[in-house]
Amino acid sequence: MSITAVRAAAAAAAAGAPASLSRFRGALVAAVVGDCVGGEFEGAEEVPMESVLKHLNSLDDETKGDGILEYSDDTAMARCVVQSLLTRGGFDEQDMARRFAKEYSESPGRGYGSGVIQVLKKLSSPQLSDVYQPARNQYNGRGSFGNGGAMRAAPFALAFPDQADVKRFACSGAMLTHSCSLGYNGAVLQALAVHLSLQGALELPQQFISKLITEMEEVEGDEATRNDARILKEAEKPFCERLHRVRDLMDRSKVSIEEVISELGNGIAALHSVPTAIFCVLHCLQPRECLPENYSGLERTIAYSLALGGDTDTIACMAGAIAGAHYGITAIPQSWIKCCEGTEDADVNAERLHMLYHQSLQSSASVAGEQSHEFRAENKSNGTEKKNKAE
Ligand SMILES: [Mg+2]
Repeated sequence: MSITAVRAAAAAAAAGAPASLSRFRGALVAAVVGDCVGGEFEGAEEVPMESVLKHLNSLDDETKGDGILEYSDDTAMARCVVQSLLTRGGFDEQDMARRFAKEYSESPGRGYGSGVIQVLKKLSSPQLSDVYQPARNQYNGRGSFGNGGAMRAAPFALAFPDQADVKRFACSGAMLTHSCSLGYNGAVLQALAVHLSLQGALELPQQFISKLITEMEEVEGDEATRNDARILKEAEKPFCERLHRVRDLMDRSKVSIEEVISELGNGIAALHSVPTAIFCVLHCLQPRECLPENYSGLERTIAYSLALGGDTDTIACMAGAIAGAHYGITAIPQSWIKCCEGTEDADVNAERLHMLYHQSLQSSASVAGEQSHEFRAENKSNGTEKKNKAE
């Protein structure tokens, strides 16, 4: 076994079995941590790694108060997604839309973008019957391609064990605010990455990226994607094309931060941030020269995401969710958890989502069991019938 494989196996053992509670807690808590610690550098063009490490080291200061780093719109909206999925026991667009609108009206200072604010205000109207309409009408009917749907997509992977459900509901949940395919497909990609990571798929990074490409080939095979890509002058399947770039960068022994930014981006478009977050996780599976040796893979991922600059809170939040699902809760330093607002709630909610996920697994297993029982019974009765007819 190579050193990398040994390390991967050790990390997997620490994270627990596929879809273990530790992975659920890791995903939801690391997403909040990424958002909170990323706020420091949001919008910065250049972020020296020394500044990132200084910021992260400062979290060890015991005199700092609990929850000193506030979460932003990323976590605020993800909390709405979680609460809605748990309360309704599944996806309910009316309920989720109401929660987004209420959250914004109660706490508008969380750094929402101006575009989404217009949608959220319309979603609060009691006369509104089609909750997808405000997002659809945006930007002359073209809709938003920002990363606002993707930044809150992780909970869909934690609520639904079935991959088709993860894709379908992550898409619908994103469309409440982002109706351009380059927006909602980014949410599908992010939810898929968390879903696969939760199953332990990051133990084989090459297969992980290949699986994402295969899935996105199908997701981006529709007419809406083709039309939007043509209008926005992107490749025919924009996310697939970016994932191929991720794979090329993975294969290189050395890659600079500048190259990552120019190849993948670090901006507020889903296309310029979801593949970037995925790359951060993959790149940091191994120790890196620029990062402290004593850092866990999760710490490396968060630090590296911040060093890219740009939309740091969202990129670190998305990378945090994927990495947290891989490494589990124990990979996140206690001091980081303590300094970030909302981590306790995330931890409690992760446990609830873990229950919901396993309930669905059990009920689909028992339905499958009943079906096979019925099938056997039917065959048996058919057999009897035939036998009777023959007689
Ligand atoms: Mg934010």
